Amino acid sequence: MTEMLKGIGASNGVAIAKAYLLVQPDLSFEKTTVEDTDNEKARLDAAIATSTGELQVIRDKAAVSLGEEEAQVFDAHMMVLADPEMIGQIKDNIESNKVNAEQALKEVTDFFISIFENMDDAYMRERAADIKDVTKRVMAHLLGVKLPNPSTINEEVIVIAHDLTPSDTAQLNREFVKAFITNIGGRTSHSAIMARSLEIPAIVGTNNVTELVKDGDMVAANGIEGVAYIHPTKEQMDEITAIGEKFAAQKAEWALLKDAETRTADGVHFELAANIGTPKDVEGVLNNGGEGIGLYRTEFLYMESQDFPTEDEQYEAYKAVLEGMGPDKQVVVRTMDIGGDKELPYFDLPHEMNPFLGYRALRISISEDGKDMFRTQLRALLRASVHGKLRVMFPMVAVVSEFKAAKAIWDEEKAKLLAEGVAVSDDIQVGIMIEIPAAAMIADKFAKHVDFFSIGTNDLIQYTMAADRMNEQVSYLYQPYNPSILRLIDNVIKAAHKEGKWAGMCGEMAGDQTAVPILMGMGLDEFSMSATSILETRSLMKRLTTTKMAELADKALNEAETNEEVIALVKEYVGE
Ligand code: PEP
Ligand code: MG
Repeated sequence: MTEMLKGIGASNGVAIAKAYLLVQPDLSFEKTTVEDTDNEKARLDAAIATSTGELQVIRDKAAVSLGEEEAQVFDAHMMVLADPEMIGQIKDNIESNKVNAEQALKEVTDFFISIFENMDDAYMRERAADIKDVTKRVMAHLLGVKLPNPSTINEEVIVIAHDLTPSDTAQLNREFVKAFITNIGGRTSHSAIMARSLEIPAIVGTNNVTELVKDGDMVAANGIEGVAYIHPTKEQMDEITAIGEKFAAQKAEWALLKDAETRTADGVHFELAANIGTPKDVEGVLNNGGEGIGLYRTEFLYMESQDFPTEDEQYEAYKAVLEGMGPDKQVVVRTMDIGGDKELPYFDLPHEMNPFLGYRALRISISEDGKDMFRTQLRALLRASVHGKLRVMFPMVAVVSEFKAAKAIWDEEKAKLLAEGVAVSDDIQVGIMIEIPAAAMIADKFAKHVDFFSIGTNDLIQYTMAADRMNEQVSYLYQPYNPSILRLIDNVIKAAHKEGKWAGMCGEMAGDQTAVPILMGMGLDEFSMSATSILETRSLMKRLTTTKMAELADKALNEAETNEEVIALVKEYVGE
């Protein structure tokens, strides 16, 4: 029976395909006493053999699609399964305790995992993750349940999941994954942001898609409006196809502006830049007419790596982005912003009640534990600076002393490199993200010390509204046009201009077509967004004047009381 599902449209585009359920199966079991221990050992051997065969296939595919280095993680998994010490202990456990293979597998692997997890060496700690992964696979075979495996998808599908981590999202194969739909998440969760840069249509925050959809069900997804049909009727498929065609036609029209300058109807220029997560995204930025990069989220470099990326690895990545953009296009690189929904498997963050309010981002970088990692990143950036127009910014700054501490480390590393005779550009600006209300309130103080601001509205809104950006139940509080948010932004822009500095925005609000007219009116200098929103924004700006938009901004700031009233004002000034 047809069913309609409503969520949050997180990445534009439509798709009609079979569902691929990416959910972890139930691996619980009962401990039982067994007589026939040989049979249990034979079951274990069979599960190990099947798992090894599967891993070999996955490994070969990964080598082709992701590269030899990425594929090596599966070699490590196969090595676990071939370890005579561990397998021998599981069999001894079956024999001496007369228990089922599931129980013996769990007891022995839990023991090995706890040993590895407590080792000092990061490489050895990673082995714990390998054992966990492999145990899951063997357990699934013992229990006869299916484990999802996105790397083996070889037909067009719509991925259905409770949630996708940024690294799950990065691994989705665009050739086959036509869209994804998740239970949780909001427009500014990182999987949604990545979906937009990968141009995969996405619907998030549906609450229960994983309960409603079964593997193989036909699904029609509309990521523009956040609506999906399960077992769609012919009419519903036609409706989705028509929306897709209209969207494609509109994109073709915007594409004509690729090489045009961004100018308003009264001749004012605004810089339209893009947000990226990896050097591979640069091509998409240029194809979409990006005039710069306003946010390079370098933490993805750390997240995709098996261990802390070295100075040289980082240097190569930054150089690739700077060279890719050329000598005149500004590239704003943000130092590592780990924490919140972004974790590193090899860096043990403490378990916290409120990770978005915890030990993260610059707070790690300037702490004793994080300083070395930070210095490595800054050196790589300084060395890469000669390859383009580099700007560096620090995330999650709350108080002036944090900026000063980070800037002092930057100055030290710069002086050291120069003393070593390494070339460093003399045109690097150092700025901060404004994403904590405390910093927005005293932007005038910060403006005296920094070269620029970039407003991170994803976090600024979550902290101002006290509403977790990952929680769909409070997503109604993601109110970018609420006068409270607009006043903070206006304060930041004015403070920057008073000191002769520039103010940009790299939160998702910068590419929001309702927000753009207001931000133009406030005089925001640079708008950095998903590359796929640039041309639409250029087309919008072309038909507006800054004088009229200044009037709109004034009303939004001083007359409106609510988010809705501001939306109505924008409609009045800009049209539908
Ligand atoms: C922001 O907070 O607005 C931002 C751009 O950073 P991130 O989304 O990576 O937290
Ligand atoms: Mg942020």
